[in-house]
Amino acid sequence: MGEIAEADFVIVGAGIAGLRAAIGLAAAGARVLVVTKEALGESNTSYAQGGIAVAMSGHEDVALHLEDTVSAGDGLVNREAARVLVEEGPQRVEELLRWGTNFDRENGQLMLTREGAHSRNRILHAHGDATGAEIGRALLRHARAMPNITLRDWTTTIDLTITDGFVTGVRLLARNGHTNQVSARAVLLASGGAGQVYSDTTNPAVATGDGIAMAWRAGAEIADMEFYQFHPTALSLPGVQRFLLSEALRGEGAYLINSRGERFMDRYHPLLELAPRDVVARAITREGMGPNGETLPVYLDMRHITAIDPTTRFPGISKFLARHKLDLRRDPVPVRPAAHYLMGGVRTDIHGRTSLPRLYAAGEVACTGVHGANRLASNSLLEGLVFGARAAEAMAAEKPSPRFGTLPSFGSMQSKAHPPGISTDHLRTELQCVMWQHAGLLRDHEGLKNGRERIREAEGENPQGNDRPLVELWNLQAIAKLIIRSALARTESRGAHFRSDFPHRDDARFQKHSVIAKGKEVSFVEFSTSEILV
Ligand SMILES: Cc1cc2nc3c(=O)[nH]c(=O)nc-3n(C[C@H](O)[C@H](O)[C@H](O)COP(=O)(O)OP(=O)(O)OC[C@H]3O[C@@H](n4cnc5c(N)ncnc54)[C@H](O)[C@@H]3O)c2cc1C
Repeated sequence: MGEIAEADFVIVGAGIAGLRAAIGLAAAGARVLVVTKEALGESNTSYAQGGIAVAMSGHEDVALHLEDTVSAGDGLVNREAARVLVEEGPQRVEELLRWGTNFDRENGQLMLTREGAHSRNRILHAHGDATGAEIGRALLRHARAMPNITLRDWTTTIDLTITDGFVTGVRLLARNGHTNQVSARAVLLASGGAGQVYSDTTNPAVATGDGIAMAWRAGAEIADMEFYQFHPTALSLPGVQRFLLSEALRGEGAYLINSRGERFMDRYHPLLELAPRDVVARAITREGMGPNGETLPVYLDMRHITAIDPTTRFPGISKFLARHKLDLRRDPVPVRPAAHYLMGGVRTDIHGRTSLPRLYAAGEVACTGVHGANRLASNSLLEGLVFGARAAEAMAAEKPSPRFGTLPSFGSMQSKAHPPGISTDHLRTELQCVMWQHAGLLRDHEGLKNGRERIREAEGENPQGNDRPLVELWNLQAIAKLIIRSALARTESRGAHFRSDFPHRDDARFQKHSVIAKGKEVSFVEFSTSEILV
């Protein structure tokens, strides 16, 4: 395949947000280049199990979806963004149905399930527990049929190119090590989350926060980085990946039990196992702490369920568990929390516009404030669809830049001397452990400061070069520092951010979003995202 030097629009990422945006732009007649770091299916989208939340049965349903979203976000949801999400969600999902997405049905009717903190059943799913893969398949098939979309896999975006303050394209690194620049009228970051910044995560290896790190280096505003959602129930078996056990299992009635075999959620929240994720995750962490600091097991238990056959309802999960000799019908399954979803990201308005001209962001990489301090389960696939489509509409209206075509390299990554014997893998693993220990589920000032110091020290050891592992390491270090700085500044506890030294919510000072940009301290602001930021 030859190198592409120019497209109308470049989209970084082929998950739900990137593909939906590409389809929108191509339908408007633009030439779109979509790049993705690995194979096209390798994204958080492909691993999404439980489903997509959408209010398909009229006004009351939409209003309730809005209230559930706002209430899960613990006082910080940008209501305008949430309104857009729930009101436009049904149209976007109708579109998915027209494009051939096979959601599960019973007697011809779409099946709806429920997950934590939803007040009613409104979650569509596909193949039981493979919702993201099915949506991705349908979107990809639709995109492939559009001749003006070019899809490039195994192509890493390493930086944005900037000319006179405008984003004018991207710098790409191909699998064979070659780099090239592509110029474009505008760039959409749809590069997903950053779960790889933690040692324990449900996210695949591609989730290294590249889009946020690139936007940060280019000078864009980044918001709410202290809010990382830890999923309460990832499989906890020694030496086995932190495989997700979807919230839909609890939606179908699974209990959480401690090492004494007792249900415990009644001590933490009236919604029991369906309490907001941060509450359940902290409850599991507490129940898993023995009196002498030892770790005790906590289990997800479906043995009492007779209304459904869990192995039929959750075929993918059951298959994975069977490989480890576990059966949902017979065995309590050991679980503990893992980093799952980043509520923060590149600050955007409700049209995907960032604070940099001609840079857009949508999906998990972006922060509209729609999730506030804690995302409502199954709202993120919908977010990718709705805001991916909106970003495409806004981008299509961008006029060709007068500077289009003149592209000095942004050259933002600084190489450092390469001390012998330090490997990128080693530094990545160390960073992930530091973040888990110091900036994980429970945080305090001392721990966060120690974490920051250790990351700074490790940065001094960075190897030199331009390969993908190194680019990802730099990006992860940038993400880690953004999380820690924002977590230090928010001296309260809210949603997914829990400070043991400030265990209460402080609305007077902090019912605001944290915003950080290069060369500036963290500030706290209210979001009014109807306005264009630039
Ligand atoms: C295990 C798991 C289960 C989940 N279950 C659900 C669920 O049931 N319901 C729900 O709503 N949400 C769920 N989520 C969250 C949801 O899947 C994600 O938030 C959502 O899919 C993100 O979509 P996206 O398009 O923003 O990013 P992604 O789907 O993550 O796509 C990112 C894309 O960007 C590419 N990329 C990244 N960096 C670069 C770079 N530098 N250069 C080029 N390409 C790059 C990647 O290769 C990928 O193609 C789950 C997440 C996980 C991990």
